[in-house]
Amino acid sequence: MRRMVFPLLLAVGVAGIVLGGVRGTGGQDEAAAVGDEVVVYSSRQEHLIRPLFERFTEETGIRVRYTTDNAGALMARLQSEGRNTQADLFMTVDAGNLWQAAERGLLAPMESELLTQAIPVHLRDPDGHWFGLSVRARTLVYSTERVDPEALRGYADLADEQWRGRLCLRSSQSVYNQSLVAMLIASHGVERTEEIVKGWVANLAAQPFSNDTSTMEAVVAGQCDVALVNTYYFGRLQSQNPDVPLAVHWADQEGNGVHVNISGAGVTRHAQRPGAARKLLEWLAGEEAQALYGALNHEYPAREGIDWDPLVASWGDYRVDDTNLAEAGRLQTQAVMLMDRAGYR
Ligand code: FE
Repeated sequence: MRRMVFPLLLAVGVAGIVLGGVRGTGGQDEAAAVGDEVVVYSSRQEHLIRPLFERFTEETGIRVRYTTDNAGALMARLQSEGRNTQADLFMTVDAGNLWQAAERGLLAPMESELLTQAIPVHLRDPDGHWFGLSVRARTLVYSTERVDPEALRGYADLADEQWRGRLCLRSSQSVYNQSLVAMLIASHGVERTEEIVKGWVANLAAQPFSNDTSTMEAVVAGQCDVALVNTYYFGRLQSQNPDVPLAVHWADQEGNGVHVNISGAGVTRHAQRPGAARKLLEWLAGEEAQALYGALNHEYPAREGIDWDPLVASWGDYRVDDTNLAEAGRLQTQAVMLMDRAGYR
């Protein structure tokens, strides 16, 4: 991923063109055109979305009502509510979940020049059902006390014998790991990926953990030396304890690049306020929202040319696997079966 820093004038010029359609001439006019309310179902936590929604309301006059729950519960709810749903926009994490929502017919495809210009092609559904709004990197975090970073390469290399009894992983139940393995299948094929995952299992120092934070805490505690996690969890740990003896290693920089995933959103199939939903989604992809969106959770903006949160920037630039994330959904079932065959619980 490369941060593109535009000269100020150029950036203002680009923003003017790209955002021209969204800003309109003022809150009242906006609301008159698309209604004064939009309803969101979100698996993103309230503290991560509320500041954005408040800004959106200030700028457009459109109120945002939202319900938060886990992704599975919200999808089940959308399904059972059908055309009676109040929800106009569905927001969640992981392309695997967004792909599922689209597959179950819960999202409507949307054509938006603004979104296709703002969001890189690998971070959105080719058919326009969902769009990435923030980017999370899933990579290696290692003990700075016991690991020589020169020894680290990428995901496949964690299957090497040198990591026997030194690896900690989160459970294969996590959609994050399902998506990671699906993307490994996309680049290496099923057979090779199964070898890799078997190697991981053979190298585990402990039973898989229920979340990324406890996985890293096991490294801090000396139970293992290297883990695979989303970097924003590392960011949380590091902001609580700047001296935590862990560091990020960017995987596969000579190979396919780091596996990234998204948090994102799509307009619901039965949206009663599709105009307002589109407006909110386009606003979330705009420059102001993007500067806030990733930083609220130590993630990366989906849009290019936005400065990174300083803590996040301190981990350095890296090359991203830019395979379209729809693959994470398409190959999810295969990934789950593969992990099961490999004995990864
Ligand atoms: Fe997470």
